Amino acid sequence: MHLVCRSAREQLGFAAAAVALRSDDGGFRLSVTEGVTGAVEAAARPKALSAEGFDALLTAASRQGRLCLVESGDPVLEKEMVADGLVDTFLASPPGTFKPGSFLFVPLVGTDGNICGLLNLDAPISGDLPTSEQAVLLEALADLTVVGLEFLRARALERSAAAVVEAQRRQLEAFLMASAEVRGGLMLDDVLHEVALAMTSAGGFDRAAVYLLDDGQLQCRATVGLSPEEDDELRGAPITLEEFAPAMQPAMKVSRSYLFDHSRFEMPEDLEAKLNVPAVQREWSVGQWHPEDMLTVPLVEKSGELLGIISLDEPSNGLLPDRAHIETLEYFADQCAAAVTQARLYEAAHTEAQTDPLTGLANRRALEEVVEVSLARYEHFAEPAALLFVDIDHFKTVNDTFGHAIGDQVLQRVGEALRERLRRGDLVVRYGGEEFVALLPDTGLEAGAALAESLRERIESVDLSDLCGAIPVRVSIGVAAVGPGCLDTTSLLAAADAAMYAAKKRGRNQVALAAS
Ligand code: GH3
Ligand code: MG
Ligand code: MG
Repeated sequence: MHLVCRSAREQLGFAAAAVALRSDDGGFRLSVTEGVTGAVEAAARPKALSAEGFDALLTAASRQGRLCLVESGDPVLEKEMVADGLVDTFLASPPGTFKPGSFLFVPLVGTDGNICGLLNLDAPISGDLPTSEQAVLLEALADLTVVGLEFLRARALERSAAAVVEAQRRQLEAFLMASAEVRGGLMLDDVLHEVALAMTSAGGFDRAAVYLLDDGQLQCRATVGLSPEEDDELRGAPITLEEFAPAMQPAMKVSRSYLFDHSRFEMPEDLEAKLNVPAVQREWSVGQWHPEDMLTVPLVEKSGELLGIISLDEPSNGLLPDRAHIETLEYFADQCAAAVTQARLYEAAHTEAQTDPLTGLANRRALEEVVEVSLARYEHFAEPAALLFVDIDHFKTVNDTFGHAIGDQVLQRVGEALRERLRRGDLVVRYGGEEFVALLPDTGLEAGAALAESLRERIESVDLSDLCGAIPVRVSIGVAAVGPGCLDTTSLLAAADAAMYAAKKRGRNQVALAAS
């Protein structure tokens, strides 16, 4: 947990960070802090933020994904139930847009879906509000805090062997450091490479190969610790699931992974050749890793779909991994699976056929694919998603006054501004002429509206004086969310479009919500 706070400080540039955990009465109590003065810490320790206080903060917060911000001056901070539970932990007075006294946090959501704590950040060293990139990393950090917490709690209950827990804690910490790299990747190959790297450096193996399942075939996409020749060979020889089955027999199962122990099982020769098992001979005794042993950790999506496998070889300590070690690897593999899915979506939306040549943004076709995924996620996991319909106000005037070429440049700048303000997992497309659409996964109507308002403000403040002089460029935005009445692409788009027209009617340069 200290490591989470330290990462927030050192890697993400906050002067102070704290984790508060929820206790049985629903209140939040400080667990660990970093960068907080002794006096502030002493003042904060006895305090508890009540469940009502937290709910009030959550409601008042503006959101960027799951990152919540309540700016200083917001009346909710003055409410007794909130003020009683918080200490103003602000240290310096950094100039810029992060107002000292603001409360910036990410709720920690447990695997049961309940909020079990919060990660609180303070005093960004840059003085700025978090960028979309930082927001994603803070979410990842929050997720890992939960993973670590639940994992260690379960372990502590099960085993009294403190040494085991300690070893796992160290390993989780190592994975935590690696996770920002994995989750921060946009392109699939980068993500897969980071997965292989983390599995070796943090996972304690000298060799790792990551395979993705494509059309019933396991295709090697990244390796670490293999020679270039071995890497080429693996990539050049996809393995069907059927061929791989002897390495994934039920009898080999340890937790959700498969441990191929050469002393108990026989590897078919053709599979052995395809997996490039090193022909090393060495002394071996029971419990030690043998060159013919192999560990296969599945990469499984949240929906249960098998995305691929991670094949691990040559543990650095020379021993067969125990169940606890394997479970830690699996927890991390689940994080990796989420990153793989996100990178796949991102890539799918950025092929040439799906790119708008003027702005470089994705186009309408890409949007349709991603909306389908969001609709399915809503159906299966009740995961929300918001859709923003953005239309430039009086754009015809820009064209009429300055010409089409300048109009094109204005469209490019607006596209850039939208892209910059959104999170990595969000998709923004040029929908048509001077219309853009943004799809925000894991975001409800209210949070979508808050983001739409900040986008509107952002575009209003983009400096376009070099292009269209005194003519301001502003947008009207309609917001709709996936839900009853919006359960297919057409009706979701129509709802957001209708809301956008309502905003135009009300005088333009504003945000309107679809009736929900
Ligand atoms: P409103 O506030 O009602 O949206 O007014 P508007 O002028 O933006 O709306 P209208 O739909 O009447 O005009 C849209 C304009 O966008 C007309 C068209 O010339 C311009 N436009 C569409 N596509 C492009 C493009 O690719 N480049 C340029 N420069 N202009 C475009
Ligand atoms: Mg239009
Ligand atoms: Mg327009």
